[in-house]
Amino acid sequence: LATAESRASATPMMEQYIEIKANNPDSLLFYRMGDFYELFFEDAVEASRALGITLTRRGQHMGQDIPMCGVPIHAADDYLQKLISLGFRVAVCEQVEDPAEAKKRGSKSVVKRDVVRLVTPGTLTEEKLLSPSEPNYLMALARIRGGADPQLALAWIDISTGVFRLAETDQSRLLADILRIDPRELIVPDTMFHDAELKPVFDVLGKVAVPQPSVLFDSASAEGRIARYFSVGTLDGFGSFSRAEMAAAAAAVAYVEKTQISERPPLGIPERESAASTLFIDPATRGNLELTRTLSGDRDGTLLKAIDRTVTGGGARLLAERLMSPLTDPFQINRRLDSISFLIDEPSLCSELRAALKHVPDMPRALSRLALDRGGPRDLGAIRRGLEVSRAVAAFLEKSMLPEELAAALEDILSLPPSLEQRLAEMLAEDLPLLKRDGGFLREGADAELDEVRALRDQSRRIIAGLQLQYAEETGIRSLKIKHNNVLGYFIEVTAGSAGPMTDGPEAKARFIHRQTMANAMRFTTTELADLESRIANAADRALAIELAAFDRMVEAVTGEAEAIKKGARAIAVIDVAAALALLAEEWSYRRPTVDASRMFAIEGGRHPVVEQALRRQSEGPFIANDCDLSPSQEGEFGALWLLTGPNMGGKSTFLRQNALIAILAQMGSFVPASSAHIGVVDRLFSRVGASDDLARGRSTFMVEMVETAAILNQATDRSLVILDEIGRGTATFDGLSIAWAAVEHLHEVNRCRGLFATHFHELTVLSEKLNRLSNATMRVKEWDGEVVFLHEVGPGAADRSYGIQVARLAGLPASVVARARDVLTKLEDSDRKNPASQLIDDLPLFQVAVRREEQRRVGPSKVEEALKAINPDDMTPREALEALYLLRKQL
Ligand code: ADP
Repeated sequence: LATAESRASATPMMEQYIEIKANNPDSLLFYRMGDFYELFFEDAVEASRALGITLTRRGQHMGQDIPMCGVPIHAADDYLQKLISLGFRVAVCEQVEDPAEAKKRGSKSVVKRDVVRLVTPGTLTEEKLLSPSEPNYLMALARIRGGADPQLALAWIDISTGVFRLAETDQSRLLADILRIDPRELIVPDTMFHDAELKPVFDVLGKVAVPQPSVLFDSASAEGRIARYFSVGTLDGFGSFSRAEMAAAAAAVAYVEKTQISERPPLGIPERESAASTLFIDPATRGNLELTRTLSGDRDGTLLKAIDRTVTGGGARLLAERLMSPLTDPFQINRRLDSISFLIDEPSLCSELRAALKHVPDMPRALSRLALDRGGPRDLGAIRRGLEVSRAVAAFLEKSMLPEELAAALEDILSLPPSLEQRLAEMLAEDLPLLKRDGGFLREGADAELDEVRALRDQSRRIIAGLQLQYAEETGIRSLKIKHNNVLGYFIEVTAGSAGPMTDGPEAKARFIHRQTMANAMRFTTTELADLESRIANAADRALAIELAAFDRMVEAVTGEAEAIKKGARAIAVIDVAAALALLAEEWSYRRPTVDASRMFAIEGGRHPVVEQALRRQSEGPFIANDCDLSPSQEGEFGALWLLTGPNMGGKSTFLRQNALIAILAQMGSFVPASSAHIGVVDRLFSRVGASDDLARGRSTFMVEMVETAAILNQATDRSLVILDEIGRGTATFDGLSIAWAAVEHLHEVNRCRGLFATHFHELTVLSEKLNRLSNATMRVKEWDGEVVFLHEVGPGAADRSYGIQVARLAGLPASVVARARDVLTKLEDSDRKNPASQLIDDLPLFQVAVRREEQRRVGPSKVEEALKAINPDDMTPREALEALYLLRKQL
């Protein structure tokens, strides 16, 4: 398209289009023409297909029709939303001069146009394009090579709220860290995008990951770029950042500049997050536990949905953020729990607060739109209302002795500028128009000149209303009306048949000037009417100019207080979350967990927060609460493992997940669905549950299972919590049993974590005889006339059988197949009795012993070891000892 030949043959407008499009090859170009954004060529074909709008043609280019489609300006947000959600990026190209200016240059001259903004998933600000309860992060990944280990860092920005954070990461936890933040867009240097090591990460992220020119990530110019953005001379006041962090932060800033072009959203100072302060949840676990999205991508059925009682957008976002990144510091966790305890003890305060909070608008997002010159009167109104309600919230809180977190929030609310609130209240009308160009958003008394101009306008309108009566009398036409439209302005209208008195005679003709003849009406004006009309129009112009100037001054006043407003809004969110969690705790009888630095994990009467609510909704009987105790037998010891057996459908997975979810809830600072819970903070949480399908990536279910299991065995520490469901199921029985066996031993001997291991291999239960921190637990069932009844109760001991055949019968397998399966089972059990797997426990050495022996067999004693054995320190002088040491060192 952008060839010289193509340009030469284009009309002047098409020439301009082609040039702008050539600079934005990756985006659909929204080309402004009057009240439409038009799309041409391939863009038009793609957009019309994606949006389901008509594809037409407009003129020809190089002998071919030019495909075209268009979207009206007023509905542009809806179309943008659809395109963005489908993964498109859009360049918005506006007219940047008055068409009158272009005409002055000559009749053929084209209005100047420029791209004013690139709309991408990570850089949205419009209310319609954003979900109120979710942050909208743009994230940048940077890498610094040097030394053996390259440094990796992430920086993420939500331009709709100004949040700006960064953290170091490494390759092993990169995906986990990205998913924890869940960005809408991740920018990556194009040189890194096809990197074999990182490609799997980008593959998982799909369209979210986008390559960008690596100059954006240049670490040499990073500091300068950030300093320029914040208009500071040096970043010393921001804290210290690594080179990789700096490069990531600068890339994120550069991308904001690139997409926002001339506007600069107000960003908070970058805050650093350390990996150690948050509970590490690996990607598979995050998916399996369905924290904020189910495996199929829905919001319903997630933990977030089940616990969210917030009433503000900011509160909902903060709750999601906490759920995604639970803490590991018992002090910080208890600080949050204190707020909930306090509000539970003050139920009337809690409900007063919630009633007030319901009226809090989304201040940070309104602020951001105003700062980006995309705001309207309603955004100013949101700030006014937000400040007003915040003051009411503060008034409720001021009466009590508050726990720390709430006291800090109160302080931030009290620092909101009262003068700004007053000023906005004095200026803004009650009902606000969406667009500032519609005017009418300043209240009476806001501006003396405006009041005068408006009075003039109203007076003129009244005179016009009077004129109608006067003209009707004068002409004797009773049906005469004075009307208004945008083309003619004010005009007199009479029916065609009755127009006689206005057209007959020179006097009448001079007085009533004919304007238009319609099928059954005639329209006239008079000098009086035209005069009043122009007075009204002038007054309206003047009024709008006054309002727009006042608008700009108010925006300036608001953005001048951006920091205080953002802090105050954050404080409101903190209060909303505390009150919401207090309400949740009351509703579902959650209890405050004891959270400390021990290795305890003692849950009494634990429930699954999501299943419990689902059962109640469907009136399917109560959820059966279950205990889980993985605490060390004595202080200083490592935590315990439970091996859980029981029939399918017995409730194993539910039990496993509920304990993981209880740990997450406790560490995010929420009460938990249990009658009591004592949790020593978990540093990493791993789970392998269900068969997550990864077939699209060409891996078998079994392969996925093994990859995930490998990650757990390699990474779990003695402070971790591991949930393993049915390891080894995806392969032949003996393979599976052997792998499960070895995995349990590894967890017990090497990882020494707390864990729950559900299995259908009953043979494994014999391991508890040798592994002292391993106990057996089982889902209890009742047998009734050959039928099984699931009690969903966890008790000590091992299931004696798997009831697979009973379950198969319940599922409706033909009776003949069930009977045949029984026969086969009897035969198999007979032969197993002659050579039982339980014998293994006597025949196999313990895991550690086995591993050591295996290593020894492979390597044998080293030279150094042999030399060491030969030395007898008691017979040596200090000098000889030193020499021996040198010799040993040489042999390394
Ligand atoms: P398994 O993993 O043993 O096959 P699940 O955990 O999938 O079993 O549970 C099977 C069904 O039993 C689920 O539909 C669940 O709703 C129900 N269930 C599980 N645990 C409980 C419980 N504690 N109380 C009530 N119903 C439960």
